[in-house]
Amino acid sequence: ERMMEIRRQNCNPMTMKVTYYKKPVYIHQGHMQWLWDVDGRRYLDLFAGVATVSVGHCHPKVTAAAEKQLRKLWHTTNIYVYSPLHEYTEKLAATLPDPLKVIYLTNSGSEANDLAMLMARLHTGNFDVITLRGSYHGGSPHTMGLTSNAAYKYPVASGLGCHNTMCPDVFAGPWGGSNCRDSPIQTIRDCSCPQGSCTANDKYIGQLNEVFATSVPSRIAAFFAEPIMGVGGAVQYPKNFLKDTYKLVRERGGVCIADEVQTGFGRTGSHFWGFQGHDVIPDMVTMAKGIANGFPMGAVVTTPEVAASFAKGVHFNTFGGNPVACAIASSVLDTMEEDGTQQISHNVGTYLLTELAKMRDKYEIIGDVRGKGLQIGVEMVKDKASRKPLPPAAMSEIFEDTKDMGVLIGKGGVYGQTFRIKPPMCITKNDADFFLAVFNQALHNYME
Ligand code: PMP
Repeated sequence: ERMMEIRRQNCNPMTMKVTYYKKPVYIHQGHMQWLWDVDGRRYLDLFAGVATVSVGHCHPKVTAAAEKQLRKLWHTTNIYVYSPLHEYTEKLAATLPDPLKVIYLTNSGSEANDLAMLMARLHTGNFDVITLRGSYHGGSPHTMGLTSNAAYKYPVASGLGCHNTMCPDVFAGPWGGSNCRDSPIQTIRDCSCPQGSCTANDKYIGQLNEVFATSVPSRIAAFFAEPIMGVGGAVQYPKNFLKDTYKLVRERGGVCIADEVQTGFGRTGSHFWGFQGHDVIPDMVTMAKGIANGFPMGAVVTTPEVAASFAKGVHFNTFGGNPVACAIASSVLDTMEEDGTQQISHNVGTYLLTELAKMRDKYEIIGDVRGKGLQIGVEMVKDKASRKPLPPAAMSEIFEDTKDMGVLIGKGGVYGQTFRIKPPMCITKNDADFFLAVFNQALHNYME
């Protein structure tokens, strides 16, 4: 362990913070919903490498598919034709409604959103992009502009995603959360409705109209939104918010992009794609993370119309659509069907949300429990009346205690005040009960 710590400090960039900084976890191996550290301690993984290990760590079926492909063909680039690519893209297209049928494969979510932004600008001939406050859409210089969460931005990124003069090309639309570092908004949500039942749609559409009236030119290129915010802390929108926003954006010549990097592949339980829970069909869908169970991959799926505008140029991506990635992703889709991952996400997710809501009623420091399926956020507050975020030191105490009792969860929200639960979609009700007992104990320990 000491050696690993020295090696980590010598060679790894300190820009990426290890989650458990009091005592990092040195992961050695994984199987399905379980991880083991170098000392052989087992952890229930409820964060899945940030919602990425979709069907389970080293899932035997997916591992076998990867091994098979590794023995056959690793790489050619897509200047040649090879069957894993076509087999996969056909399978993926079948999960999406018409007219979303043209697929570009990338290596990450940031790359997918970069590409989507480029395509939107080429297709519409417009430049400006709208994102939501609290959003995270990537860490490349371009997508950093789409990301509104200030914690993930360097001041030199293109478009800072806020309404000041430094960022002429990307504008944040309405929704609670800190956009600029000096934002006056206190919590991620500036309304206090319980999860999923917010009725403040008119208010947010009003704010969006204000953005159109004051900041954004009459024509825009794109609107980016996740169906449920991920890094932002499982923030859900009022009913019809996306539907109404899509209409307003399309009236101004823009295309609507659903970032399904976290919400796709059954994670929200009730639907395979998060946007299907909003009664909309986007013009583009971006995806990554769960697509290949942890193998680097991403995709943009769009309409033939948008693709035709893009076809005027030449697009090349050395690794995008790599045969091994395609074989893995293909096996992930098959495994999802065979293992019933979406149903598990719905069943276990609903159970967790119900039980966590009971804990919210019991503990003064749980401000909100929200999400859908296995995309869950537990927002921690100083007290229910003020809804001020629970300070980082207190969050860490509960977080590290939970880990010490054998459960790994995530953190997010604009102030790092939301615990995030997004496990591999193979967890059981027993696992959920184990987590609930551990979390209850950690809260109890903290309150004492
Ligand atoms: N979009 C969303 C919604 C994400 O959560 C992330 C990653 N957290 C990204 C895009 C960027 O993906 P990647 O890290 O694979 O570039």
